[in-house]
Parts: sequence; C-alpha cells; structure tokens
Amino acid sequence: MLKDGEKGAVLQRDKETYAIVPHVPLGVVTPAFLKKVAEVAEKYGVKAMKLTSADRIALVGLREEDIDKVWTELGVEPGAAIGACIRSIKVCPGTTFCRLGQQDALGLGAELDKRYHGYQLPSKFKIGVSGCINQCAETCIKDLGFVGKPKGWTVMVGGCGGARPMLAQKLTDNVSTEEALEIADKVVKYFEAHAKKGDRLGRLIDRVGFEEFKKAILG
Ligand code: SF4
Repeated sequence: MLKDGEKGAVLQRDKETYAIVPHVPLGVVTPAFLKKVAEVAEKYGVKAMKLTSADRIALVGLREEDIDKVWTELGVEPGAAIGACIRSIKVCPGTTFCRLGQQDALGLGAELDKRYHGYQLPSKFKIGVSGCINQCAETCIKDLGFVGKPKGWTVMVGGCGGARPMLAQKLTDNVSTEEALEIADKVVKYFEAHAKKGDRLGRLIDRVGFEEFKKAILG
C-alpha cells in the first residue's frame, strides 16, 4: 500500500484504490490534453473523473499497480494536492478572456505557479488571483490573494475557507505586477519562517497583530 501522497496518489475511501491529480497550471487546458486524460482514464478503468475546486481533474479509482504507467502516459507532473505546501493557485481568466477583467490574472497566476506550486512550508497555503473585484477565484478566502483594479492589484492576506473560516484583509493596493510578486515572496517567506504546523496565515496574523505583520512585509 502506498503512503499518502507517494507517487502523487491518495488512498480512497474504499481503502483499495487511489486518486491522482495531475498538475493543470491555472486550470487552463487544451482539447488535446483533455482527450489524452480521457483516453488514459478509460484505458485504466478509472471510476470517475472529478473536476476539483482547485480547477484540476482528479482521476479516481486507480489500482496501485497502474499508477506509474498512468503518470508516464499522461506525461505531466502530479499536482500538490495534499500536505504542507503551496497548493494549486486558483486563477480567473482576467483580461485574457473576461470582458470585465481589469488586470492580467493569468499572467500573474502563471508566474506565481512557476515560483511556488508545491513549495514546502510548515503548513498548507493557498493563493488566488482574480482579474477584478468580482473575485471569481475566491480571493477573499485564500491565504494570499490578488484582486485586479483599474490602477493595479489589491493584495489580500489571511483568508481561509477551511474548518475555521476567515476573510482576508487588505494589505495594500494599486501595486504593479512586479510589486505584487515581490510582496508575494515576502509573505511566503514570512509564513515559512514563523508559521507552526497546522497554521494558516490568518491565524499567524492574529497572533502577531495585523499592523506588525504589515510592517514586516511592507516596511
Ligand atoms: S473575477 Fe472579474 S475578471 Fe475574473 S472572471 Fe470574474 S468577472 Fe471576470
């Protein structure tokens, strides 16, 4: 039996089969990718393909002996679906596709994904990027969120949609994409240095105080 997360596989409720979740950066796929996933899923007899809240496709009901072959045939990396790390970065279509977009959410999201997806931390950490105030990427319940506005990004911190839900607070606004990435790096490094196992950023901010946290990030 595989350990949880080994080979990117998670044991299912039946205690026999596994789910795997390929990494789908930004939740954007091509028809060819979907076709390949469907073909591999069919070949190995998955019970279901679940579209996850993190904009990925979980293949559910795989046999242990098939998991290596499935990854090879898919030709993609596992997504960071469990464990203490930066999970899938949830991103809306932003100015690339959405007529309401104010900022390039896919562009900022792609850079964040490249830098941080799977990055190991003391506890799990979620990031969201929305191209406008409608927050289709649920930015206000992410540990770190970016919301596009006409003059730049608003940076939100401390949101959580888990067992103890919290709404994110505004850290700063009207920042450029480059500044947003610098702030993201400081927030992630701060969490890495100060968080305890099982923490979320919002709880850490409650402990240290918002003004203290803000000073540490923005100076
Ligand atoms: S958050 Fe705004 S830009 Fe993004 S999909 Fe929703 S409406 Fe469009």
